[in-house]
Amino acid sequence: MLQVENLHVRYGEVTALSGVDIVAKEGEFVTLIGANGAGKSTLLRTISGLSRPSEGAISYRDSRIDRLPAHAIVGLGLVHVPERRSLFPAMTVMENLELGAYRLKEKSEFGGRLRSVFDDFPVLEEKQDRLAGNMSGGEQQMCAIARGLMLGPKLLLLDEPSLGLSPLLVGMLGTIMKRLHEGGLSIILVEQNAFLALRLADRAYVLERGRIALEGTGRELLNSDRVRKAYLGL
Ligand code: ATP
Repeated sequence: MLQVENLHVRYGEVTALSGVDIVAKEGEFVTLIGANGAGKSTLLRTISGLSRPSEGAISYRDSRIDRLPAHAIVGLGLVHVPERRSLFPAMTVMENLELGAYRLKEKSEFGGRLRSVFDDFPVLEEKQDRLAGNMSGGEQQMCAIARGLMLGPKLLLLDEPSLGLSPLLVGMLGTIMKRLHEGGLSIILVEQNAFLALRLADRAYVLERGRIALEGTGRELLNSDRVRKAYLGL
């Protein structure tokens, strides 16, 4: 479904990614773990057209997308939920969800999509008239994911959704991501919470200083000595 080949990304003098290769097959749950500054967000930003590679190729369903503008990439069904939620805090939950649906050509689709998002996140239906900025961190994260789902993604790119959440909410988030995946959605999840990410992953990658250091199934990486020492604190 998605193939990233020999990707290099620079910010001026800083090399954020050098020679990264990853693949995500249709229906797969792919996760990327790594320390602060390893290049995880840069990889998602480059897939979704927000940063440009200096070298390499990104293909989605066999077509190159690395020169497409971000809005065209969203139009293909690659939806990015960025780190730190980026909701509109002075707008209500419902207004944030409506903004998520801005691309819907058929306004009649809106009701069905909203129903499905409310089924996934009942708390958002209850609190649809609250200002997003007045919700808890966990609720804001649910709202950010729900806004992404309103775009009808085929491949969802999630950047550190567990950031700042309590262990209880991280558990809930894991259940929600698993359910979305079981419903047929392909997901690429970037996480510092390696335990959460590897438990969910069909395929997982470890990114270290801009390069892929390890790859395998989630289970293989959970059992790898290097991952256990460096990322799981075991
Ligand atoms: P974090 O979890 O802290 O977000 P990350 O693994 O997502 O880390 P990136 O944010 O992709 O890592 O950063 C990779 C490298 O690129 C780091 O060295 C970072 O300082 C640098 N970098 C990221 N964004 C910029 C930018 N806009 N300008 C300059 N350097 C940047």
